[in-house]
Amino acid sequence: MNLDKIDIPFEPPLKEPARQYYFIEKCAQYVKAESERLGRPLFSAVKTFGCQMNAHDSERLRGILLQMGFEESENEASDFVLYNTCTVRDNANQKVYGHLGYLKTIKKKNPHMKIALCGCMMQEKAVIERIKNSYPFVDLIFGTHNVFKLAELLYNCLTKDSMVIDIWDSGDIAVEALPSKRKYSFKSGVNIMYGCNNFCSYCIVPYVRGRERSRMPGEILSEIEALACDGVKEVMLLGQNVNSYGKTLKEPVSFASLLRQVCQIPGVERIRFMTSHPKDLSDELIETMRDCPKVCRHLHLPLQSGSSRILNLMNRRYTKEQYLELAGRIQKAIPNISLTTDIIVGFPGETEEDFAETLDVVTRVRYDSAFTFIYSKRTGTPAAAMENQVPEAVVKERFDRLLCQVQKISSQVCMRYAGTVQKVLVECENDHQIGYVSGRLDNNLLVHFPGDASLVGKLVNVKLTEAKGFYYIGKMAENS
Ligand code: SF4
Repeated sequence: MNLDKIDIPFEPPLKEPARQYYFIEKCAQYVKAESERLGRPLFSAVKTFGCQMNAHDSERLRGILLQMGFEESENEASDFVLYNTCTVRDNANQKVYGHLGYLKTIKKKNPHMKIALCGCMMQEKAVIERIKNSYPFVDLIFGTHNVFKLAELLYNCLTKDSMVIDIWDSGDIAVEALPSKRKYSFKSGVNIMYGCNNFCSYCIVPYVRGRERSRMPGEILSEIEALACDGVKEVMLLGQNVNSYGKTLKEPVSFASLLRQVCQIPGVERIRFMTSHPKDLSDELIETMRDCPKVCRHLHLPLQSGSSRILNLMNRRYTKEQYLELAGRIQKAIPNISLTTDIIVGFPGETEEDFAETLDVVTRVRYDSAFTFIYSKRTGTPAAAMENQVPEAVVKERFDRLLCQVQKISSQVCMRYAGTVQKVLVECENDHQIGYVSGRLDNNLLVHFPGDASLVGKLVNVKLTEAKGFYYIGKMAENS
């Protein structure tokens, strides 16, 4: 987008993304004038809480701020501070309130500083009321559906003295063609859909991210083609439940078919995706993962609980037997697949027998790793109103037992590549070991081996000389 062509003196365009480029230019004039007045550059800091989708949104937010002329900083004592929030568990909310207390003291010393909040937590009405009453020094609040509108909202914020709040209950437009500042030059997330229709009874996501909407396949493919031209080798296709991709499109397209099309894009060497719901993971997807070598041998398949009774209360729409049968079919079709999962301990009504079922699935599936969570009551979800909330001490004891079981199996399973030569995408120089670099195997496991910065972003062959439980030590293979 050629900013010079934007007629600043006139009304902003109505169409997106031109409208946002107009406001990027407007804000850029403010940033320029303010930094001349202060005799220094203006700094912006974006702090991300939560999941990969939030991390991807934050890359967009950083890109927009850099285009305005802000210099990027990690320091929260910056001229513009933006929190991209998460609300999947209560402690995520508490973290943000804690940080806001800290920002209050900074703003006292730096009154022209602007503070903004966006993301899932801002979609909760009670949160907005609390911020208005207890944190009136916040300047801007927006949600998950209008992340792309940062420039326009910041401009409103710069031209008004009062708090600007713009929360949408739903989002029907997806504006992706905006500046982005990727964390890595060689890999990138790509949103393929937004929202979730599954309404698992403990989960707040459908209430804060809205109904499922899939992006047009052509739009996704051209975004990935542009990324590949820009040096990206690995893409992560993102959605709350990618298996539902394409169901809302006028001409439905299956996720597996989209995956096959992404495999055809020159320059893309690795494809990952997250997250797959077990209830609608198709045979077509399993075959596509088996047949397309670019699709990484890693599948994140959240279990949540091993008890069919609890799964029913969670509204997960599969049973223990169905999950085990699916995991078995995947492991049979793709023998070296790495399965990882999410498990919740302490869901209301969970008995020792239910928990034993969870341990049984962990023992039988043998995950490479598992994200284990203690159930967190989320106001507004059906589970929050359920009786039989499990006592904290009982949950803690079960959580420790689960972690022990998961780690025991994971350290055994993760050792299976010891002594082999594997392809590694080098991500960075190792902070802890001078002269070493770190990267990831196709199944997402970490490898550290001797090397220098010239290897970062490259796919190299590495001999895995030592297994260290959840990562490997290696050395460059001769044929690398
Ligand atoms: S699938 Fe369930 S747990 Fe995942 S985002 Fe949707 S409602 Fe939440």
